[in-house]
Amino acid sequence: MLEARIKQTLRDVADFPKPGIIFKDITPVLHNPQLCTEITKALAEQVKDLHIDVVAGIESRGFLFGLALAQALQVPFVPIRKVGKLPYKTVQQSYDLEYGSATLEVHEDAFKAGQNVLIHDDLLATGGTVVAASKLVALLGAKVAGYSFLISLDFLNGRERLKDFCTQVFSLAKF
Ligand code: 5GP
Repeated sequence: MLEARIKQTLRDVADFPKPGIIFKDITPVLHNPQLCTEITKALAEQVKDLHIDVVAGIESRGFLFGLALAQALQVPFVPIRKVGKLPYKTVQQSYDLEYGSATLEVHEDAFKAGQNVLIHDDLLATGGTVVAASKLVALLGAKVAGYSFLISLDFLNGRERLKDFCTQVFSLAKF
């Protein structure tokens, strides 16, 4: 089963990026081209009925399968980046972290009004990152049609925070 193979391949790294955190490292997955092909296919299969117009991937690990997924769906890919990286005019959205805050931004012409956007990231934890990304989609008049993750830490209830935007939340490996 794909979920079991992803879980077996991931590497848990203790105390990264700070003491007490167990980080799910996806780089061993990227080492396995056959597994990556199957993941891309499965991510596309999960959202095939959502009429997705654009896939938006979140910096930086959301770019890895985000672009592959957009290619599989044959739709455009949009990078949502940390502030200061995009060259053209942007809209920005800040969000709270455990300590301090962070800002995401996207080019102001990234989405057209009314488009169905699929937000993709490698991992859903508390949901703060994708909530900020969802606000960027809404700011540009598009709508979130779904969320796609490689991994979700469901014990952190991130899905609950996404309900206000869209209830279509998919992940391939749930913890
Ligand atoms: P959230 O905003 O949902 O709390 O955190 C999700 C964001 O943090 C994602 O962009 C994700 O890449 C990153 N993240 C948090 N914890 C982990 C982890 O254990 N492994 C990986 N690969 N990313 C993580």
